[in-house]
Amino acid sequence: MSRQEFREISPSEFFYRHREIVGFTNPARAVYTSIREFVENSLDAAESIGVPPDIHVSLIRDEGFEFEVYRLRVEDNGSGIPGEYIPYAFGKILYGSKHTLKQMRGIFGLGGKMAILYGQITTNRPVHIISSIGDRYIYEYRLLIDIEKNNPIIVERNVHRNGSPRWRGTIIEIFLEGDYQRSSIKIIEYFKETAMANPYAELTFIDPYGILYTFMRSTRRLPASSREVKPHPHGVDVETLRKMINSTNCKTLREFLIENFHRVGEATTDKFLKKYSLDPARDPASLTPSEIVDLAYALKNFDEFLPPDPSCLSPLGEELLVEGVKKELNPEFVTAIQRKPSTYSGYPFIVEVALAYGGGIPQTGRITLYRFANKIPLLYDESSDVSWKVVNQIIDWKHYKIDPAKDPIAVIVHICSTRIPYRTLGKEFIADRPEIEAEITRAIRIAARRLSEYLSHKRRVEKAREYFSIYEKYLRKIARFSSMLTGMSEPDVSRLLRRVKKWRGSKDIEGSL
Ligand code: ADP
Ligand code: MG
Repeated sequence: MSRQEFREISPSEFFYRHREIVGFTNPARAVYTSIREFVENSLDAAESIGVPPDIHVSLIRDEGFEFEVYRLRVEDNGSGIPGEYIPYAFGKILYGSKHTLKQMRGIFGLGGKMAILYGQITTNRPVHIISSIGDRYIYEYRLLIDIEKNNPIIVERNVHRNGSPRWRGTIIEIFLEGDYQRSSIKIIEYFKETAMANPYAELTFIDPYGILYTFMRSTRRLPASSREVKPHPHGVDVETLRKMINSTNCKTLREFLIENFHRVGEATTDKFLKKYSLDPARDPASLTPSEIVDLAYALKNFDEFLPPDPSCLSPLGEELLVEGVKKELNPEFVTAIQRKPSTYSGYPFIVEVALAYGGGIPQTGRITLYRFANKIPLLYDESSDVSWKVVNQIIDWKHYKIDPAKDPIAVIVHICSTRIPYRTLGKEFIADRPEIEAEITRAIRIAARRLSEYLSHKRRVEKAREYFSIYEKYLRKIARFSSMLTGMSEPDVSRLLRRVKKWRGSKDIEGSL
């Protein structure tokens, strides 16, 4: 009998082996995912200090390889990274500043580093980083990731004096195997949609053919930023609870609950403890593992906790959403709805929807769907997404006199949450959680009603205009012929025409004629 061999692998090695689960399936997809991860880091970094993002991306073919290799460079005006953290932020998988309950684009401490890791394993070149937090120094590093140990290897480190005015931001450059031809459509679409959901950002992209794409901002107003919150009792699991108990200084269960949870006040705690016959004076550290399991269960099921408040979220808001849609799609009509905050499994979320019609919206024979999560466009696996289901299977467009096959319509759905229920680590589509599905459905229905009103008004006006032009044409002709026949002078039909106008319709039709 052969013996099995047991060994542990590091997070770097795990993701190295399974890179397709985070979106590095092939060279085309890898270029797209790398750009996306760096741009998202840059957007987060600028928003975190309240600055409208300026992000410049270039992708240049490097001829020094036998196969297709690109140099990808992304520069931003964001927070910058303190010098001592740079090697870890870019050289240690799962290390990051976003493991908090606050809405950010990054979540796993993974994305940027996966791009770096992919670049390293395909070209064996280190990542080059230049960053400053706007103080006296600029740090420059060349790093490799030690995949087995999940640690950075510093190949080169330089410290430069920061000039005046002080520069703040980050420049990151990697070499990676890629396929631009097969990914260019998605990449340009990614920039366009990012510009739509972030109308306060300025983005430029120079592609390998030297073409410059610019997406100018149309406003400098940023959405209200998000705050970090404590965990909501409905969202904690046994492991989180155990960790919280281990690190608390609270000496009683009552104090522990009030201090550590979001939306848990004194009165609610007392009710909760009473309902589950828990001793308020009990030292949380004395809870046995099975009591912790019971407590987690009780916290999840007690329905008198207030829902999480949405201050940890940073939605776009109706105005910015309309602004973004107008800027990138230039429609004839657009309306936006922001729903009230809601929750699923203890996580707050907000749904925002815009519906656009005509103008620059192409007529494709079906509704064009733009999906966003925490202001990130989602471009793959559309038909697995909850929004696709709502748009194509739940909403009855006929009810709103809208014909998806004929009318040029775009639906824009934005979901923001501290925890987007992505179905995969590749962050491409959102699971059909019933609470989220219901909110999207409600928002689209409201928007569809508004569009339907707009369209029926427009159709009424068109009909009236048609009638009027017929009357106008023929009344004048009839007047002329009858005067010729009778030899009498030609009557003035304008009074009659004014009466037709009145008779044909309401005030708004008259006004628009
Ligand atoms: P995540 O974004 O999921 O946290 P990443 O690997 O993409 O993981 O980034 C790791 C960390 O590096 C981030 O949490 C952030 O603190 C820092 N970081 C990455 N890119 C930038 C940037 N452009 N500006 C400032 N900080 C950054
Ligand atoms: Mg990231």
